[in-house]
Amino acid sequence: MEYGKITQEGIDYIISVTAPDRVFTGEAIEYDYCHDEMPEYGTSRPDVVVQAMSTQEVSAIMKYAYENRIPVTPRGAGTGLAGGAVAIYGGIVLSLEKMNRILEWDLDGLTAVVEPGVLVMELANAAMEKDLFYPPEPGEKTASIGGNVMTNAGGMKAVGYGVTRNYVVSMEVVLPNGKIMQFSSNVAKNTSGYDLKDLIVGSEGTLCIATKLRMRLIPLPKYSYTLLVPYETLESCIGTVPRFINSPITPIAIEFMPQQLLLDAEKYLGKVMPHKTSAYYLILMFNGMTKEDVEKQCDKAAQICFEAGAEDVFLCNTEERKEAVWSVRSAALEAIKASTTDSDECDIVVPRNAIADFVQYADAKSREYGIRLMINGHAGDGNTHIQLCRDDMPKEKFEEQTPLLMNDLYAKAKEAGGQVSGEHGIGHARAGYLENFMGEDMIDLYRGIKCAFDDRYILNPGKVIRVKES
Ligand SMILES: Cc1cc2nc3c(=O)[nH]c(=O)nc-3n(C[C@H](O)[C@H](O)[C@H](O)COP(=O)(O)OP(=O)(O)OC[C@H]3O[C@@H](n4cnc5c(N)ncnc54)[C@H](O)[C@@H]3O)c2cc1C
Repeated sequence: MEYGKITQEGIDYIISVTAPDRVFTGEAIEYDYCHDEMPEYGTSRPDVVVQAMSTQEVSAIMKYAYENRIPVTPRGAGTGLAGGAVAIYGGIVLSLEKMNRILEWDLDGLTAVVEPGVLVMELANAAMEKDLFYPPEPGEKTASIGGNVMTNAGGMKAVGYGVTRNYVVSMEVVLPNGKIMQFSSNVAKNTSGYDLKDLIVGSEGTLCIATKLRMRLIPLPKYSYTLLVPYETLESCIGTVPRFINSPITPIAIEFMPQQLLLDAEKYLGKVMPHKTSAYYLILMFNGMTKEDVEKQCDKAAQICFEAGAEDVFLCNTEERKEAVWSVRSAALEAIKASTTDSDECDIVVPRNAIADFVQYADAKSREYGIRLMINGHAGDGNTHIQLCRDDMPKEKFEEQTPLLMNDLYAKAKEAGGQVSGEHGIGHARAGYLENFMGEDMIDLYRGIKCAFDDRYILNPGKVIRVKES
């Protein structure tokens, strides 16, 4: 694909529609803008970084990029794990970080309108002050709402509350040609034409740029308890998960952690877990409006866990204990990275009743390839996070073996009716795996959709689907 080059005239134009202190070139571009949270997938220095402050600025930049066929990479907080916000074709990184205002509260309809750069923790905290709850809680709370919408982020509480998609009511977007569009409105249901809002959720900045988002809120639950459940064997631990699917109680979260990861995360954070001597752990969360309701749910859950072979069940009902458990869980990724030399990752999702079989398959593959796999994550959604740790394996061997092991895992996921990614997305790191997994007909359909929005292939090229060289 032949792209235009940004000229000094182009930079002057971008400054004229924004402001000189928000446009960066050359050495003035901070290294942070050259990678996301997986620099292992490659870093790339854009020609220009622009921090937009309004929809009109985004529109003016896109018009210029469209006319001159300049690649544009939208960027939120840069916490992605698939290289999605990295400008692999150079050009412009369009940062939404300064569009970070909460614009409106609709306290009757329970929605809030936010700019895309508002951080997840900022919306959650502001909602809490109004006795409201923004439930999606990905492990990284400094991610932006725009980034969460564009990756359809999941997180710990998706078992009970669903993923980001369930909380997007409507959006204002800028198309690659600079046109400003509104997808859906402040309504509870909608069958008016194609549902472009839902198509955009999870599109990883390849179809348009979100500049305003109306997000759904719910009443704040008054009580929240956590159970830490130790197990002796992988079979009994992961085998507990399907037992909750058709039980009368729904945990808000069902997280899976092997002991080694728990110890690594404890060490990484300097925190102490209430229990750490067992081989495997489930962490369960229950929310409710009354203490009695939450206690009842915890009692029933404990019964289910014991029946499945749990060694014990620890109730965490104080802020201190809950914080210790959930902060250790949240530190998993950093702890794994700190424990090894290099790593790669995937976040395969399988049907919930296939999770036990899949985790055991991955565990066996770890031994077969001699690569340490840290398998953890959102077990209740069938969504495992698998970190491949190089440790002291020679780098060349690790790089040679990794794709083979990944291919085995993806093939197993396909056989089980699963998907390539449950929440981290495809970016450019998994575009090749997605092609293999989906096959030509599906990728052609994706290309058709891409072309309908972005006929010049300028918006986040190389992400989700690879650019066809012409
Ligand atoms: C420690 C850690 C834990 C994590 N845990 C989870 C987890 O539990 N669940 C989960 O789902 N993810 C998790 N993530 C991944 C990451 O936080 C999410 O993918 C998040 O949604 C990325 O948001 P961001 O603002 O950082 O987006 P970025 O990384 O900046 O961008 C992500 C993608 O969205 C696009 N984009 C961003 N903003 C816009 C916009 N306004 N318009 C158009 N496109 C845009 C970018 O081009 C890119 O393709 C974790 C990451 C880390 C580092």
